[in-house]
Amino acid sequence: MEREEMSFDLEMPSVGVIKGVLAKDIEVVGEKVVNLRTCARPYRNIYSVAQLRTIKNVIERYGSGKVHLSPRHNLEIPEVRQKDLDRALKELYIAGLFPGGAGTSVRNIFTCPHWCPKAVRPVQELGMMVSANFADRDMPNKVTVSFAGCSNACSRPQNTDIGVIAVGRVGTGSSGCPDGCTECVEACPFGAIERAGRGVRINDKCIYCLKCVDACTDGMLTVEETGFRVLIGGKEGSTVRFGAEYAVFAGDFEVLEIIERALSSYLKKAEFRPGSAKKKERLGEVVERLGLEEFMKAPPA
Ligand code: SF4
Ligand code: SF4
Ligand code: SF4
Repeated sequence: MEREEMSFDLEMPSVGVIKGVLAKDIEVVGEKVVNLRTCARPYRNIYSVAQLRTIKNVIERYGSGKVHLSPRHNLEIPEVRQKDLDRALKELYIAGLFPGGAGTSVRNIFTCPHWCPKAVRPVQELGMMVSANFADRDMPNKVTVSFAGCSNACSRPQNTDIGVIAVGRVGTGSSGCPDGCTECVEACPFGAIERAGRGVRINDKCIYCLKCVDACTDGMLTVEETGFRVLIGGKEGSTVRFGAEYAVFAGDFEVLEIIERALSSYLKKAEFRPGSAKKKERLGEVVERLGLEEFMKAPPA
């Protein structure tokens, strides 16, 4: 079928256009170009071969032959000719690729891949649930949500508005450690585990990363429970903030509830930045102004 014959109408979401860049590689005189940001819906930060083929076709037909993978796993197709935008969007949309990921809204959810062997708990499904419920929701300013499957925190959850990290509590019940063994002590990056008689003891520096459990080849350490650490109010950019710890060992549904509460509070409590009549505070700035406890209190109905 010729592309010109594609006469059906799709109800498409609004286009996420990134302002900007001059079209260096397209010689289009008198016509505008746009940079198009797209991502998979339902959310997966894993793109299928079919989707990548569609991307290839779109950038070759309507763009300048380039694509950029953004820090939040959006695919940015620069320099799409504006007259071709509708066709480009339709082709992407059919492949399950939606425009979005820009503006004052909940941005693309960022999770670890599900195949990482270091994951304490899988986070892809939880990320998809959060995406299905909250992605692209209008907010006072942009909101980023990141999930990490372990404390290595590859998705940088400490510096996002809401960061979720899978954690595990170590069981040290055994007292049969071989003399001289310090494998777990050496593996701990925080000095949180030490030898105590025939066993080991964990102190309050522990961040529940489970590196000691991986290091113990004698099976003396166990995983007592797993859950999620939730950090609120981090950000990257011109100023950097680390999120404050709101929960440790939260369960899946508790994480969803916390995110819902944080977003509702942010919607109700954000103010314009000092001296600005246009830009509202980032979530972390509201947390800084009110304190985490006050911020997380249920907003007035
Ligand atoms: S944070 Fe942990 S689970 Fe996620 S990709 Fe990094 S090492 Fe793997
Ligand atoms: S869980 Fe991590 S921080 Fe805690 S004792 Fe083990 S290695 Fe150290
Ligand atoms: S817990 Fe394992 S690694 Fe640590 S001292 Fe005991 S046997 Fe060694």
